[in-house]
Amino acid sequence: MKVVYHEDFNQVYTSDPAAAAGRIQAVVTALEGKVTFIQPEPATKDDILRVHTEEHVKSVERRGIYSIAALAAGGAIKAAEIGLSEPCFALIRPPGHHASAESAWGFCYFNNMAIALEKLKNQGRIKKAFVLDFDLHFGDGNVNILGDKGYVTILNPASTRSRQEYLATVEKALALTDADMIAASAGFDNHEDDWGGLLHTDDYNLMARLMLGAAQRNRGGCFGILEGGYNHRVLGQNVLAFVEGLQGK
Ligand SMILES: [Zn+2]
Repeated sequence: MKVVYHEDFNQVYTSDPAAAAGRIQAVVTALEGKVTFIQPEPATKDDILRVHTEEHVKSVERRGIYSIAALAAGGAIKAAEIGLSEPCFALIRPPGHHASAESAWGFCYFNNMAIALEKLKNQGRIKKAFVLDFDLHFGDGNVNILGDKGYVTILNPASTRSRQEYLATVEKALALTDADMIAASAGFDNHEDDWGGLLHTDDYNLMARLMLGAAQRNRGGCFGILEGGYNHRVLGQNVLAFVEGLQGK
């Protein structure tokens, strides 16, 4: 399977935990030899301005984050494009699901998911999208930008109390969707050894297989992009479990 990745994602561009040294390397080490790494191009300014205001883009430029944030958004676009014909994952940072049109927080700058989906939608390459956001934190940026577009359904199961209820919620929603693009804002910070303490490594494999099943049923595509996940000791194994699930393994 192809995994979109660029060496520049190892850059420590801020002092936040998403940008921590060793985080991306931990995932690369777990995936190496099992996937084919594909390099993305930065998203163009037009791609970014389809989703964000000029003012917000300027503020990201002023903070010195523009290049790496545009490369992450380009990685999401690449994964979505590959995802049209085969499951794909984007190993990117900074994450994006807390980025709204004119503001961002929570280690996010540009909304990678929204930039990718809006590009494909604009090109007429997808009709409906389903976004599973299994990050520990509510993806307010995804909802703010995509929630009222009319073609996107977003599931944030994070408020669910038990693990069983969580997985049942995901399974039910993916069984019902008729979207031709099944996407994941894949944050791994709700793992039992990460901040949220809820999900098991196998659960990421299960959710990926459920995504693949929905995509195949709807004769559509699927992809995931990295959001959170901060325990470097388990992030690699969790991403690997998810990537294998996207391949039906
Ligand atoms: Zn998170």
